[in-house]
Amino acid sequence: MTYKLPPLPYTYSALEPHIDSRTMEIHYTKHHQAYIDKLNALLEKYPQYEKKPLDGLMKSLDSLSVAEADKMTLRNHGGGHLNHTLFWSILGPKKEVDTALVIEIEKTYGSMDEFKKDFSALALNRFGSGWAWLVRDGNGELKMYSTPNQDSPYLTGDAPIFGLDVWEHAYYLTYQNRRADYITAWWQVLKLLP
Ligand code: MN
Repeated sequence: MTYKLPPLPYTYSALEPHIDSRTMEIHYTKHHQAYIDKLNALLEKYPQYEKKPLDGLMKSLDSLSVAEADKMTLRNHGGGHLNHTLFWSILGPKKEVDTALVIEIEKTYGSMDEFKKDFSALALNRFGSGWAWLVRDGNGELKMYSTPNQDSPYLTGDAPIFGLDVWEHAYYLTYQNRRADYITAWWQVLKLLP
């Protein structure tokens, strides 16, 4: 299978002023496309894995019959594709609040404010490039943590619910070094939560 960019469900400018149009265009057409291109090139070498779901390949990465260097490529670019595909889908110009998730978050973390404060701190304190995640673990419990680079939560058997991309390419044109301002703005366009 050859992976392709998933359709973006809104225009590049739809998330302004929180995420600017140029950032969206470059992030989607250049960065995400590059992960896909490198993932496709890697999978050409391993046709036995081309038709396997990518989340499953991440889960079983250690046991794949793939050279170590290629494993790192698969981890980075397979993760990059999965992470960005989810990222576009959880954002939007209009809130589409998942009320069941809201209730679960409030139960698990005390309140929405408390949850957002802790999640924002994870995103802010991730050193260098990476992501902050809300995931469901193997027991069905909510967990939050951050990962470096393009590491996917599927690597550790968790299913991501949403993630916040804190690579500089996600915010630098508007926010430069002000990652905290980007995080504050990002909550406005995360459609799942109020
Ligand atoms: Mn990104």
